[in-house]
Amino acid sequence: MSGSTPTIWILGDQLHRHHGALAGHGPDTCRVLMIESRALLMQRRWHRQRLHVVLSAMRHFADELRHEGFSVDYRVADTLADGLQAHRKEHQPVEVIAATPFSHQGVDRLTALDVTLVPHRFFITDVATVRAWAADRKRFRMEDFYRWQRQHMGILMDGAEPEGGRWNFDADNREPPPRDGRNWPEFTRFDADSIDDAVQADIDSWGVPVWGAGPSGEWPVNRAQAAQRLAEFIDRALPTFGAHEDAMLKAEWKLAHSTLSSSMNLGLLHPEDVARAAESAYASGAVPLNSAEGFIRQVIGWREYVWSVYWLWGPEYRHRNHLNADQRVPPAFTGDATTEMACVASTVAGIEGRAYAHHIERLMVLGNLALTVGVDPQAMTDWMTASFIDGAEWVMVPNVVGMALHADGGMMATKPYASGGAYINKMSDHCRDCRFDPKKRTGENACPFTSLYWDFLARNETALQGNHRLGQQLAGMRRLADLEQTRARAAEVRTSLANGTL
Ligand code: SF4
Repeated sequence: MSGSTPTIWILGDQLHRHHGALAGHGPDTCRVLMIESRALLMQRRWHRQRLHVVLSAMRHFADELRHEGFSVDYRVADTLADGLQAHRKEHQPVEVIAATPFSHQGVDRLTALDVTLVPHRFFITDVATVRAWAADRKRFRMEDFYRWQRQHMGILMDGAEPEGGRWNFDADNREPPPRDGRNWPEFTRFDADSIDDAVQADIDSWGVPVWGAGPSGEWPVNRAQAAQRLAEFIDRALPTFGAHEDAMLKAEWKLAHSTLSSSMNLGLLHPEDVARAAESAYASGAVPLNSAEGFIRQVIGWREYVWSVYWLWGPEYRHRNHLNADQRVPPAFTGDATTEMACVASTVAGIEGRAYAHHIERLMVLGNLALTVGVDPQAMTDWMTASFIDGAEWVMVPNVVGMALHADGGMMATKPYASGGAYINKMSDHCRDCRFDPKKRTGENACPFTSLYWDFLARNETALQGNHRLGQQLAGMRRLADLEQTRARAAEVRTSLANGTL
């Protein structure tokens, strides 16, 4: 190839032959560049499986492209800029082209490196279309967005009406965990190959700061594996997904959740293909409507909504801190301390073992505790981005700043997701074996969530009192005869949690 050939730079979360910058290109029309940046690897303390899945998926994708006949320049460099400079020096491409990166910093970085950015199709609805739709709306709410997605995609629709006459089957999908000892669906685990082994060896020899268990074949690293996981989910788990999607069980890490988020976030699966597969299963009669709708809502609703929020509300959204929260991420989350809180210990064990917790564990255990204790939203965002198998800036900023920590003051969620131990007691089996009592808010065995909940309302009363959805809770807090003792217990909890002794 000559210097008149363009280079297509494939980023680590854009691993698809046709949705990104490779669309319309073949082995004869371009050279491919991929770069592993050691500076990015060293930037955070990553979960070992998170790092592994990204590097392994990149290397597998490079192999697939070589197999198709592409010339692939795969580089390991100190920084992306170094890798790009070395590539330009060696191959002198007429132009370097990349699909627009998935973060504000990524866009700035590649623009500064004189890379031509082109649109991509990794999401169902492009941001410009969402921006135009949202322009004349007073608020940008998930429920409105989701209905619009259903309508313009024509998915789960019966003419102009939602299938089954309702947009939302959440009321059917909030069942507590079943107590019948049932077996939950199993998915295939994938054997490690030589690429996986090499990634592991490199992580160790490079001295990358990592925590958590090594990979055990749980997470797809190429498109074929991701497609297999999708088929198994639709066949084995989706029929029972709905009813217990908000439940938590200490002996079962995923229940009937799909475990497809890392594959979608790396570009191995397209979200529309995933949603259509669920719709087809419903149409064939294999899956009930509440399960199909609940899952499709997560994919075309929540996932696309947080992607849109990330771009519509701009880079400054990440730095919002409406409640002036300033505590560090508790050492019980990061694996630097153990905890006697059974729900937290179980959730963190799941993260340590698989870099995964499902959405209710993220929101109502980790997020709830971080909210009520007052963890700094940016620190929480950084920790979750580095620790979850599907961690990505565009996912975590809206989910932490907007949903979990109410740091945006209600732009995304109309009220903070704060609750005492009663919610976790209803939706899990953790409290049975916990040394704390979810009903108690004072005393040595008071549930930390319960004490912190009331303290959170009292501590943030001024900031929250304009929120009409919190009127009852704030009134309840003001009526508590033992508010002083409750807040004293909450202060002890906050100190112990910060010290890693709770
Ligand atoms: Fe968690 Fe409180 Fe229940 Fe213990 S009692 S498991 S800390 S909610």
